[in-house]
Parts: sequence; C-alpha cells; structure tokens
Amino acid sequence: MSRTVISGARVFDGESDDIQVADVVLSGGRIVDVGLDLDGDVRVDASGLTVLPGLIDAHVHLMLTSLDMMKMLNRPFSYNFFVALQHLRVTLDCGITTVRDASGADRGIQSAQADGVIEGPRIQISVIALSQTGGHGDRWVPSGNFLDVVPPYPGRPSAIVDGPDEMRRKVRELVRAGANVIKVNTSGGVFSPTDNPSHGHFRDIELEVEVEEAEAAGIYAMAHAIGNAGIKSAVRAGIRSIEHGNELDDEAIEMMLAKGTWLVPTLGVLDFIIATAEQGASLPEAILTKAYHAREAKRDTFRKAAEAGVRIAMGSDSAAEAHGNNLIELRLMHEQGLAPIDCLRAATSSAAKLMRLEDEIGRVAPGMHADLTLIEGDPFDFAAYPSNVTAVYQGGRLVRGGQPASKNSPEISPKGVANATL
Ligand SMILES: [Zn+2]
Repeated sequence: MSRTVISGARVFDGESDDIQVADVVLSGGRIVDVGLDLDGDVRVDASGLTVLPGLIDAHVHLMLTSLDMMKMLNRPFSYNFFVALQHLRVTLDCGITTVRDASGADRGIQSAQADGVIEGPRIQISVIALSQTGGHGDRWVPSGNFLDVVPPYPGRPSAIVDGPDEMRRKVRELVRAGANVIKVNTSGGVFSPTDNPSHGHFRDIELEVEVEEAEAAGIYAMAHAIGNAGIKSAVRAGIRSIEHGNELDDEAIEMMLAKGTWLVPTLGVLDFIIATAEQGASLPEAILTKAYHAREAKRDTFRKAAEAGVRIAMGSDSAAEAHGNNLIELRLMHEQGLAPIDCLRAATSSAAKLMRLEDEIGRVAPGMHADLTLIEGDPFDFAAYPSNVTAVYQGGRLVRGGQPASKNSPEISPKGVANATL
C-alpha cells in the first residue's frame, strides 16, 4: 500500500509538552509511523509547518442554521440540510476533522459524511437534547404556540420527557435513532424563551436512568448545564461532560474533580448570540436578557475550573454564521487562563477522550486515523487561526490545501496554497 511521508514539520502529537521535528507516514487512511528519516512513495515537504492532530470541536450544532426565529420559522424544513452542508465544509476548512453535534444532526448526515457522499468532519451525534416540560428544549411560548425551529421527524424524535419511565423509553428511542451520546438539559438555557438557567431540571432519579440506559447501550451522557443546580445533579448522576457550566461554584468544581467530569466551556457563544440580536435578528426579549446574565455569570468560572485542574475539551457551540469561526475558542480559553499547550490538548487528545474516541483520533501516533491539521507560523498564536491553517488531511486524504498527493506528483508543498484552492 502506498505510503505518504509528511516530512520535516514540527509535530505536536496531541499529548506531549514538546513539539518536535518528525516525519509522519500515512498509509491506508491511518498514521503508520512517526519518527526521523522515514521513507515512503510520496513525500510532502512540510518544513516550517507544524503538524497537529486533526482538531476536534466537541460542541456544534450543524443543523441550527440561523438564530433568527422568524427566519427559521419561514424556512422550508429541507433547506436546513443544505445549509448544514456548508457548515460541514467551512468547519473542515478551518482544520476541524471531527465534531460532536450537540443536538440537531441525525444519522443521515453522519452516514453521508462517513460514506464520502458529503465532505465534512467526522460526526458524533446526539440527535436531540432531552428536556423536561418547560425546559431548554420546550419551545412553548406564552401565546400558546410552539417556536419549534427543530421539529421532530422520523430521524429525530421529540425531545420532551418527564419521569424515569419516559426517560428510559426516550433514551432507547435515541439509541435506536443512532445517537452516539445522550444529551440532556439539566438546567434552563439561554436560547429558549421561558425557562430559567439557574433552575435544576430533571430529578436525580431521571438522570440516573438516563445514564444507566446510555451506558447499557455502550454510549455515554452529556449535559447542557448553566446553573449550579443543574451542573451538580448532572455530575452526581455520572454524566460525562458539563456543557457551558457558566455558574460553576467551588463545590461544583470539587464534585467534577472527584468524578472526573469534563467541562466543555463554549466561551464564545454568548457574545455571538448577543451580537446577532444587536444586529436585528428577531429573538424574544427574554433570550437577550438571559444571554447578558449568563455572560456575566461566566466571567471567572472557566479560569477557576482550569486552575483547579478540571478536565477540559474544546467546544464552540457553533451555530448559524458562527460555523467556521469555531477556533475562536482556542484564543478565548487561552485568554482565560489555560496554558497554550493545554488549549491544543483540549482540541485534540482531550476532546477525543471525552468522546471515547482516543484510540481513533486526537493524536499523531501509529494506528490513529490519518487526520492532520498543518499550521504555518506559531502554533500558539491562536488569534491567527484559522488563516494559518495551510492543509488538512482526513483519513489520509488532503481535504484542504494544495492538490491531493499522488504518484504522478511525487513532491507537493501544502505551504501557501490553501486560500487559492478554496
Ligand atoms: Zn449547544
């Protein structure tokens, strides 16, 4: 089988403290060797570049195609699938080769990507996020109508569930629908008109059933949680990751450390919601008010969690026009106290561990999928992302930057050609 050698680059393997010069050999879609002076059939000169494991965004919403409620309500149902294709493309272009969709994307999108029908990052799906009546996923509004921008359909069941028995049935329904992770909203949210983010949603017995059924199906649970009540109930139940975690008090941090719970901080999303509203998007006033409150609550909580050693995976909560700007999250995590190398770990090996994919992605090591993101300049200059991304490999295939390597073009350089080919 043909071997492609990416030679002369500095390599961050996803875990080590050091970034060292090495050759990386790709064959059959996998990384087969990493070391010095390696040979192969095709050589790619990557001197001066840094090779990172393909980046991972552990929290996106590929199917959330606008934050403007009126626009969404007037948009044909199927239109969103085409917009999602654009989201996949721009996400891959910025060097992200795997995402975890935190509600919206179904098995059809996932399978189309996996089968090569469409281009995009590998996708882990939650299908839909479960909510109690009146919770973050309940689209009831005071007029008595439902602002359901993501209505249920055969591939995506309804999201409302109350009581342990309904929870058990619904988790099984999501497993049947292909979910790789069961997402639950254990607190109110921002982007929903009637609930309160400080309230804890679901009782412990319901969450214990959720985790039990997920684990029985060989998958795991993730929780949208903004307030401490929802964060703590999720941690108590053994849910694997807290998404957002805006209010995180000291006790919550202690509990997360004791249980090894992951934090996916989504630091940029509130600014995006607020900016979108200020630019005139039609959103209920309550959403904007909650966005300001939640942003205020978040001021120092990420820094405290990072300093305490809570496990962190990068997640941007990208939706609508934010897709493609996912890597703002690297800069924000660094600005709020995470060491540069830990920011890169959060977007590679750590995110892979959270997603239980550490044997497949997230590291530059033999046996892993040949997903690589090549960076020019200083890899810790996070403000330069994603314009410093010069080439992206996925499964050994060049999916952005230059021409695909072949025996007819034995020497290619991915340097400086990325923008020309977009
Ligand atoms: Zn989200």
